Amino acid sequence: MEIIGESKKILEAKKRIEELAKEEKAVLLIGPTGTGKKTLARYFHQKGPHPDFPYVEISMANLEENQVGAVLFGIEPDPAATHMKGQIGYLEMIETGTLAIAHAEQLDVHQQSKLATYLKAGWFHRVYGQQSVKSKTRVLLLASGTEAEVLEKFIPELKELLRDRTLFLPPLIQRLKDIPLLAEHFLRTYSKKNGRKIGGLSREATEKLVSYGWPGNIKELENVIQRASMVASEDLIIPGDLIFVRPSEKETHKINILRNEKIRNLLTHPATMKLLIWFNIFMVTLMAGFTLYTGLFKPADDPLQQYENNLGMVITWIVWFPILPLSAVLVGRIWCGVCPIAGIGDLAARVKKFNLPVPRILKRMDFWLVIFTFLILDYLEEFLDIAGTPLATGTLLLIIIGLSALFCVLYERKTFCRYVCPLAGLLGTYSTLSMVEVRGNKRICQTQCGQHHCLKGTEKAEGCPMFSYPASLTTNAECMMCFNCLKSCDQRGVQVNLRPPLQELWRQSQPLLSLALFGVMLVGLMAHHQFMEGTYWKVTKKTLETSPGLVYTLLYGLGLAMAVIPFWLSSTLSAAASREKISENMAYYGMAFIPLALAGHLAHVGHEFLDEGLYEMMAYLAMAYNYLTSGIAIGSEPVEIAPFIHGSINTFIKVMIILGGATASLIALVMIARRLSKRNVFGRILPHGLILLLFVAGYLVIFTAPTGKPKPALKEPQASLSVAKALGGAQGGTISGDSSFGKGGKALPG
Ligand code: SF4
Ligand code: SF4
Ligand code: SF4
Repeated sequence: MEIIGESKKILEAKKRIEELAKEEKAVLLIGPTGTGKKTLARYFHQKGPHPDFPYVEISMANLEENQVGAVLFGIEPDPAATHMKGQIGYLEMIETGTLAIAHAEQLDVHQQSKLATYLKAGWFHRVYGQQSVKSKTRVLLLASGTEAEVLEKFIPELKELLRDRTLFLPPLIQRLKDIPLLAEHFLRTYSKKNGRKIGGLSREATEKLVSYGWPGNIKELENVIQRASMVASEDLIIPGDLIFVRPSEKETHKINILRNEKIRNLLTHPATMKLLIWFNIFMVTLMAGFTLYTGLFKPADDPLQQYENNLGMVITWIVWFPILPLSAVLVGRIWCGVCPIAGIGDLAARVKKFNLPVPRILKRMDFWLVIFTFLILDYLEEFLDIAGTPLATGTLLLIIIGLSALFCVLYERKTFCRYVCPLAGLLGTYSTLSMVEVRGNKRICQTQCGQHHCLKGTEKAEGCPMFSYPASLTTNAECMMCFNCLKSCDQRGVQVNLRPPLQELWRQSQPLLSLALFGVMLVGLMAHHQFMEGTYWKVTKKTLETSPGLVYTLLYGLGLAMAVIPFWLSSTLSAAASREKISENMAYYGMAFIPLALAGHLAHVGHEFLDEGLYEMMAYLAMAYNYLTSGIAIGSEPVEIAPFIHGSINTFIKVMIILGGATASLIALVMIARRLSKRNVFGRILPHGLILLLFVAGYLVIFTAPTGKPKPALKEPQASLSVAKALGGAQGGTISGDSSFGKGGKALPG
């Protein structure tokens, strides 16, 4: 047993405990929770005159009030209550050993008085006993709290007895010098235990440890290092491996749906998620295979080369992509929980998995990388009109699936989903608005669990694929809703909570700058995508003499810049008003723009769906119906559905969505500012509020501008009337024999 530390305070405590250990008297150890009182108690016993006699620790926090007397002093059989058997207490049982009584501050007055008698006279009475029982057991009282808090709970007699034999342990924050030493010690212990060969802590990781506040003291440091030893790369612990569990705020307005056993059983059943994953794998294989097949083997003039005649294209771009952001807003990253792309990766990893540690560069880039991959994909998708051709769509799906499989085979857990997947940034950002979250119960995780099965995994489920620790999760962006932790946790430490929407935006003690900034970027990108649909751009494009590709690239950059630069300016002003760092201000207030970005996204998706996608889908269904009933090959007699939703209704819906998003963003701005400080709230949100107003005005102009889609004229129906009936008579629309729907490029997010 060794006491780790070189700080003056711990060296003094060590010296004093060695002196006290030589005497046979009781000692009181006071210190905040997690300061190492139990370690020092064992050291005290070891340095005492009877190190070979038993050392026993009992905690008053785990005993019922009526059990305390019996456990400490023993109990005589109670003649009045015949079921009560006699037993001896620890003071009698361990003879000349040491009894450490943890949470001694919880002893009631009566037990304290009995204990004081024993410490003075060396004897006590068992409960219901009349005879004096002698003992030489040495007592060590361990009490949690500050010196003043603890001493006011003790009776004067006991305080007097322990007056010169009381030792106070400092909180870890007062032992900065010891933090690296303790961290290295725990790292050696847990690396060995977990069979890892980790060389040590990087300089940045050590700096991060030293700069943290350590409310949970040494116990918290031990937990952080234990978790790091599970997720670290083989060589060094880097800051990204350090998972902190921030003190929880009051959990308000949350309902843990796992209190319902049926829901718990459903989510932990091994088949639930697997069935959904297999269904999705089947669908994505079909879609990717079909689009690739038509792209590669059908002639260029084949009807299936047309976007609207190709089932793979219709499902991918009209059904799948619009549903993604909606699913994230409703149920977090539930799509990731049942994702076929990751599922196929898992299948590949079953054949061979190298389980290499995550490359350090990925950890360092963290969320920035998924933002980067999203921007690349989004740019290329529109630039190359991937949504317009089956071959490009199939190839895109194949590349993403291939990358996922490659990463799954090479690296541990779901490295691709955590650090690379282009969809992770989008889904992660929108999932912050979700009304559902998976979180660890901090009280259970911190005090009752030393196993961390949720992170490590068990035979029931693998450890968290996202390298996350449920109790430290503060954002849905880092949870892919796979429920693995729920399956592997045997302490009921995982909760699936329903919570008020938007709450996550202002309840971040350390928001990610990358996530917040991406929210702002999305505001600009949605405006850009909608602008590209507008008549103005379409007309201008035709008159361009410079390369349209170059102009498009510039416009893409401009879309981003027009959101990020004003936001940077407003953050500079707001930070000056609150005396914060600009980057801190951006990280907090950028979160507030996510609802507006989502509104832009939904308005764009709604625009495309109500203007085009809906009719294309109905036309496809009509062709499929014709094929099934009359054998007419799909695309050989194109069907056209006449629009039945008036343009002004579309515009009204878009405006309402944007105003809704703007209101939500404004609420989030106010809540973030109020939560940070009650002072000068107006001054801090004014710059951001003005920028929000500017963004909303820009959105209203762009989203209500004419889009220049060629509207199909109503024509005499040529296709089978039965088709019209089958589609509810197209509700006033008409089905005609040829299509005038042009397929413009579809933005990836919509
Ligand atoms: S991050 Fe990407 S690959 Fe991974 S589960 Fe989510 S969508 Fe699928
Ligand atoms: S979620 Fe369960 S396994 Fe994980 S730390 Fe909490 S109690 Fe332990
Ligand atoms: S294991 Fe738990 S915390 Fe990790 S991604 Fe799955 S649901 Fe989220």
